[in-house]
Amino acid sequence: MTPADGSLVFTGCRLQSATPGYAEAPASAQPLGRRREVVVSGRRVKTVDVHAHCGVPAAMALMGLKPAPSLLMSQPADRLRAMDEQGIDVEALSINPYWYGADRDVARELIRIQNEALAEACAANPERFVAFATVALQHPDLAVEQLEEGVRRYGLRGASLGGSVEGQELSDPKFHTFWARAEQLGVLVFIHPQGTAELESSTRLAGNGVLTNTIGNPLETTIALSHLIFEGTLDRFPGLKICAAHGGGYLPSYAARSDAIMTTFPERCTGALKKKPTEYLRQLYFDSIVFTAEALRHLAAETGAGQIVMGTDYPYPWTKTSVDHILNTPGLSDDERIAMLGGTAAKLLGIKG
Ligand SMILES: [Zn+2]
Repeated sequence: MTPADGSLVFTGCRLQSATPGYAEAPASAQPLGRRREVVVSGRRVKTVDVHAHCGVPAAMALMGLKPAPSLLMSQPADRLRAMDEQGIDVEALSINPYWYGADRDVARELIRIQNEALAEACAANPERFVAFATVALQHPDLAVEQLEEGVRRYGLRGASLGGSVEGQELSDPKFHTFWARAEQLGVLVFIHPQGTAELESSTRLAGNGVLTNTIGNPLETTIALSHLIFEGTLDRFPGLKICAAHGGGYLPSYAARSDAIMTTFPERCTGALKKKPTEYLRQLYFDSIVFTAEALRHLAAETGAGQIVMGTDYPYPWTKTSVDHILNTPGLSDDERIAMLGGTAAKLLGIKG
């Protein structure tokens, strides 16, 4: 890849030792540099990671930002090595929004630079990377253009969004035009939280434990999905393909409360829905970053195994055993494991076998 203004720099980090508490990953027993090939019942599975971060410095510079010093800037080779070791065949790259406060002109230029860089990175390693288009959702009509251009001109496979846009919910009618186009194009929309800024300003999430991230991130996803369900956005656009990060936050783990509110306080549930709130979980997709076999089992029970796609959160070292998490969770059929490891994501992202 030619270094250029728009060139993509991976916010990489070196592979660290296996996460305590997990069985040792087979990858760690292999000679360094060897690509781990994942096999289920004798069948080689093309594994896909739907949750992998990167950054484009030239685009960030337009907002006066730089990649955090703590995030090492590395070459694609480092990332490919980590993917090989973890048994990840394809990463679907995304960029967490930091541009939702940008005016229209800056947002247009920033997204152009960013999507070009993403396309360039994918073109340099077409077997290993696909990417989600970035869009300036604060300007919905512009975001529609950017989504179309991202998919049609740059070959990007969908779009990545934050869990809210400058305090506005994704269910806000101003975003209907974007959802309509995403539905029409049939592409996957990946929702990644950015925390809950409202709670941060109150300092309720201050103190030990990085609660802004630990619970702030899954909380934002929970709020975003709940609004998309209860405000009728998913009824209005039933063909939408949405994937929520971190297993959908807290929503699937306490899903039944969303049904119970309908009978407990019916007079306060004023918007009619076409089905029970929990039934919408079976049309959404969720990444597998829930850490334990029990959590993955429960997620599959609430959403259906076919709705779960593998995620790693690379380069953030939440886990390096996403493949083994799926392989080692009891009670899944081989077909369900294959679907989670990559089969479902490959279909959603147009990745050929
Ligand atoms: Zn992430």
